[in-house]
Amino acid sequence: MQTKYINISTINEDSIYDEIGLALQNGKLVVFPTETVYGIGANGLDEKAVKKIYEAKGRSSDNPLILHISDINMLSKITKNISFVEKKLIDAFFPGPFTLILERTPIVPDVVTAGLDTVAVRMPSNEIARKIIEHAKLPIAAPSANISGKPSGTEVTDIMDELENKVDYIVDGGKCNIGIESTVVRVIDDIPTILRPGKITKEDILKVVGKVKVDKHIFEKCNSDEKVLSPGMKHKHYAPKTKCVMVYSNNNDTLIKKINAILEDTPNSLVISTTENSNKYNAKYILDVGSKNNLDEISKNIFSTLRKVDLYNVDLAIIEGVSQEGIGLAIMNRLIRACEYNYIEC
Ligand code: AMP
Ligand code: MG
Repeated sequence: MQTKYINISTINEDSIYDEIGLALQNGKLVVFPTETVYGIGANGLDEKAVKKIYEAKGRSSDNPLILHISDINMLSKITKNISFVEKKLIDAFFPGPFTLILERTPIVPDVVTAGLDTVAVRMPSNEIARKIIEHAKLPIAAPSANISGKPSGTEVTDIMDELENKVDYIVDGGKCNIGIESTVVRVIDDIPTILRPGKITKEDILKVVGKVKVDKHIFEKCNSDEKVLSPGMKHKHYAPKTKCVMVYSNNNDTLIKKINAILEDTPNSLVISTTENSNKYNAKYILDVGSKNNLDEISKNIFSTLRKVDLYNVDLAIIEGVSQEGIGLAIMNRLIRACEYNYIEC
């Protein structure tokens, strides 16, 4: 198929949204920006259209998708039995980088939920995303725009090569603001449980509901036979082809020393470094991911930076760990998975 590329800032907007909305109603695939990462969208109520997403990404059929809505009225069509705590979370965090797992109605096809009796729902705050969903008048199934296993796409230049001719439209809305996927939460026994950390932090949720849990699999590798609350926890994700190691320390001097020691053993390496440390390493290549005092900047840059790693032809990519405060928890979760649990705490 031939992909139509649309730069949304330069094209007459209203007619283009009509065209994209219609394309989605007709079962087409549309890559579009959200505030978190780019998504590959399709009509979330059309089994055939959703199957095309799995094919384009090479995604395992046991890994369910998030349905994206543009207004709260769409919620009653696809979910039921919303509890008091769930309602509080919806009121506080919709629209935004927050996904809630809810009981589903029969209208949601099994292919979206991988056969589960729940469905993941998010209302993006990005205006382009909202307008596209509004014009489609449908909940839109949209996983991150990347081939499965790779880092998620946060700008179109990063994903053009891997998705061109696999989707009908690519809507370019510039670089995503947050750069890391939504926080995924399921309420269990009235306690919000974070299944995937994101921009909405455990502290944010605590303020709203007074209780919060973080699932242990955020940092622990799952065995293939282990039962998990979110199938995505089991799948390889965010990893460059190059071998990666993440190094973390509370003490910056210890961190620099350890990374330089690894560089001595493996000279053909690159370092993904914070700005402050970028002149401290004897490395062939340094990729600056942003200031350690600005975790939002690191969040915005992390996937684009991970995507650059394979261009350098090195034996090892050494990644600096960051603080787990606030959005740092989400960054560390992605980094640990990018290096396939190969990390050193020193
Ligand atoms: P992505 O589509 O790449 O943003 O990933 C969506 C994440 O949400 C994956 O980790 C899925 O496993 C998870 N997810 C989607 N639907 C459900 C559900 N019904 N229950 C639990 N996790 C879900
Ligand atoms: Mg993904």
